[in-house]
Amino acid sequence: MSEQPRVEIYTKEDCPYCEKAKDLFDAKGIEYETYNVTGDDELFEEMVERANGRKTAPEVFIDDELIGGWDDTSALDETGELDEKLGIEREGEDGEVLEHRKLIIAGTGIAGLTAAIYAGRGDNEPLVIEGDEPGGQLTLTTDVANYPGFPEGIGGPELVNNMKEQARQFGAELKNGIIETVEASSRPFRVEMTNGDVYTADAVIAASGASARTLGIPGEDELMGYGLSTCATCDGAFFRGEDMLVVGGGDAAMEEATFLTKFADTVYIAHRREEFRAEQYWVNRVHEKVEEGEIEIMKNTEVTELHGSQEEGVDYVTLVENDKGHPTDRLDDPETNEFEFDVGAVFFAIGHTPNTEYLEGTGVEMDDEGYLRTQGGDGGGQTETDVPGIFGAGDVVDYHYQQAVTAAGMGSKAALDADEYLEDLERTESTSDGEVVAADD
Ligand code: NDP
Repeated sequence: MSEQPRVEIYTKEDCPYCEKAKDLFDAKGIEYETYNVTGDDELFEEMVERANGRKTAPEVFIDDELIGGWDDTSALDETGELDEKLGIEREGEDGEVLEHRKLIIAGTGIAGLTAAIYAGRGDNEPLVIEGDEPGGQLTLTTDVANYPGFPEGIGGPELVNNMKEQARQFGAELKNGIIETVEASSRPFRVEMTNGDVYTADAVIAASGASARTLGIPGEDELMGYGLSTCATCDGAFFRGEDMLVVGGGDAAMEEATFLTKFADTVYIAHRREEFRAEQYWVNRVHEKVEEGEIEIMKNTEVTELHGSQEEGVDYVTLVENDKGHPTDRLDDPETNEFEFDVGAVFFAIGHTPNTEYLEGTGVEMDDEGYLRTQGGDGGGQTETDVPGIFGAGDVVDYHYQQAVTAAGMGSKAALDADEYLEDLERTESTSDGEVVAADD
C-alpha cells in the first residue's frame, strides 16, 4: 500500500468497542492515532463536536471524515467500503473462491475460540471469522468472576485475548469479516462473506453467538448512542452524575446496574414483572446497593418511549406500571399507570437474539427464535446439526445456560465432532480413490 490515509480513533478507558476498533485496524495493518478522552474534558468536547454530538467512544475518523462508532465502522467493513477508504485492494474478484479450508469457524467468542484452540491442535488449521461482535459478549463484561481457574477473577477482554493468542499458537487463522451465507447444496460448503469474499470449507462450526436485543419503541433508533446503550461498561462513564435507567431483570441487568452505581446519581432498574430472573448472587448485590440508596427498583414497569435529542441526549422516558406485571400487555387496564420519568441515560439489558441468519437455507434446523437445534444427548456428535459437516456451539444453540464456561465446553465438543467428521471424510475420499485405482489395475 502506498499512501495510507490518516486514521484517528477517540478512545476511553474500559472501552471494549474501542479495543475492537483498534483490533480491526491492526488486523488490516493500518496505523492510527488514538486520543483517550477519559478525564480530559477538552478532548471529550472536541470528540463530541467532531462526532456531531455523539457521546460515545470510539469515534473513528479517516482523513477527517467521521466514520462513527464501532457499529458504523464494522458496518462499513462488512460491505468492503472501509477497505476502499483505506486504499486496501481486494484479494479476489466478486464470487471467486479465495481459498479452500478444511474448517471454518464462525465467531470469536468463547465458543468459537475454544473450538479454534482444539481444531488447531487437531491439525485442522481453522479459519476463524470474527463476525460483527469480535470477541463476543465477554468483551463487554468487566470482571468474569466465575470462569474456573481465575480465583481473583479476570477481565472479559483479557480472557478473550488470551484465548485468541492460544488459538493462533495452535495454527488458527483469525480474520475480520462477517459471513453472509453458507451454501450447502453441494460439497465443499461455499461460504460467502458480506464484503464479497468467498471461501470453501469441508466443515463449518457455527459459534456466532447472539446480539443484544432492543425494544423497538419510539425514540430508540434516534437515541441509540446518544444516551441509549446496550452496553453499560462501554458508555456508563459518559453519563457521570446523571440518573440512569437499566431495563431488564436478568443477570446482565443486575450486573450493569451494579456497575453503573460507580457513575450514576441513582440507578433505576425497570423490570416487567415481580420476580427477577437473575441468579440470587446478583439479586443480593443489587439489594445491597438498594440499601445504600444507590439503586431503586421499579417492578412491573416497562418503557414505552424515549424522549430527547441527539444534541442533548436522553431527557426523559415514558413508563407504564401495573402490579399484575407485563404492563404493556395491559395498556387498556384502568390500573395501568403511565408516567414520565427523568433520566440522563438508558441501558437495555433484555437478552440476546442468536446470529444464525447466514445458515438459513442450508437445511439446518432452528427454533422460532433462530437458535440452532443440535443433536445433544450423550455420546459423540452432540454438536451436529441436521446438515452433516455443520456444527453448532455456544449461544447460537444454548438459550438456557449461556455461560462462558458452557460455551467453552460446547466449543471443544464442536471441534472434536468436526475433527471426527473430517477424518471420516478423508477416509471416504481416500477409499474411493483407492477403489478407482484398484479398478484400473
Ligand atoms: P436474560 O434472557 O437472562 O434476561 C433478559 C431480561 O430482560 C429478563 O428479565 C426479561 O424479562 C427481560 N426482557 C426480555 N425482553 C423484554 C422486553 N421486551 N421488555 C422488557 N423486558 C424484557 O438475559 P441476560 O442478558 O441478562 O443473560 C443472558 C445469559 O448470560 C444468562 O444465562 C445469564 O446468566 C448470563 N449472564 C451472566 C452474567 C454473570 O453472571 N456475570 C452477567 C450477564 C449475563 P423476563 O424475566 O420477564 O423474561
